[in-house]
Amino acid sequence: MKPHDFDYVRPTELDQVFDLIERHGDDARILAGGQSLMPTLNMRLSAPALLIDINRIDALKGLSVEGDMLRIGALTRHVELEHSPEVARHAPLLTKAIRHVAHPAVRNRGTIGGSLSLADPAAELPACALALGATLVLRGRDGQRRVPANTFFVDLYETARGEKEVLEAVEVPLATSSDRFGFGELARRHGDFAMVGLAAAARMAGGTIERLRLAFFGIGNVPVLSSAADLAAGRPLDADLVEVLRGAVGETLDPTDNLQASAAMKKHLASVLVGRVLGDMME
Ligand SMILES: Cc1cc2nc3c(=O)[nH]c(=O)nc-3n(C[C@H](O)[C@H](O)[C@H](O)COP(=O)(O)OP(=O)(O)OC[C@H]3O[C@@H](n4cnc5c(N)ncnc54)[C@H](O)[C@@H]3O)c2cc1C
Repeated sequence: MKPHDFDYVRPTELDQVFDLIERHGDDARILAGGQSLMPTLNMRLSAPALLIDINRIDALKGLSVEGDMLRIGALTRHVELEHSPEVARHAPLLTKAIRHVAHPAVRNRGTIGGSLSLADPAAELPACALALGATLVLRGRDGQRRVPANTFFVDLYETARGEKEVLEAVEVPLATSSDRFGFGELARRHGDFAMVGLAAAARMAGGTIERLRLAFFGIGNVPVLSSAADLAAGRPLDADLVEVLRGAVGETLDPTDNLQASAAMKKHLASVLVGRVLGDMME
């Protein structure tokens, strides 16, 4: 199928984007990598009258260390995350996770801003943002606001981004020598959206865990941080702890059935992932 007719503009400044959004409202849609938007247009699930291509806006590009944060511009493509030495050094969880996102052709075009704005419940990057304690930088006509990842994902494909705002960047705290990260997902085929996935981040203090975050995706409408992670505080990251968390995690999740797996199956897969991912982090 082909999409309905639409107009297309490619502004070079954010102010032009805000003008267009104000003028066209719901009839306009932002186009980044197009890897989610274009299929929905081609299938006629959506029929905006205007596409605003943001790919020429420099303010949305680039990777830089700013203080104790890695700033990742919204237009950073998945392939750039995959191969960036800065990301591997300062946010290695993203390097691990991005290889699970689709296939090279999609990663060549898809952007981190598109993935976070879309907020697909089975997507890898929103869960990574939660595990990392990232901050999403939103830009509107009247300025910028910063939203912590744990309040950004509101409901199915719904985020805290206002209709007239653009996601400008993501800020990720720089990894330290006390941090350990793990990532895993269970999908029917490599590159498919996950049935269930887990992004994990541990901050160690000496030989024990100071703080653990377990961010699951593919579970419900939004990625979730499991409260089972609190059981890890003050304990070493060892096989005993992994068994405790494997047993506890199911009770803290409230999965929904979908075409991929039943709720009961998802709880089981979540427990399997805790074993695998934390097992890798022990090494
Ligand atoms: C075959 C296939 C397999 C895929 N598999 C996976 C997978 O396994 N895991 C996964 O996570 N994803 C997967 N994807 C989706 C892919 O990762 C997309 O790249 C991503 O979800 C959207 O990024 P994009 O830059 O292409 O956004 P677009 O498609 O351009 O936009 C997506 C949405 O976000 C909005 N948007 C984009 N950028 C901004 C911004 N800066 N500010 C405000 N709104 C914005 C758009 O208006 C649109 O509503 C797959 C896609 C395909 C086609």
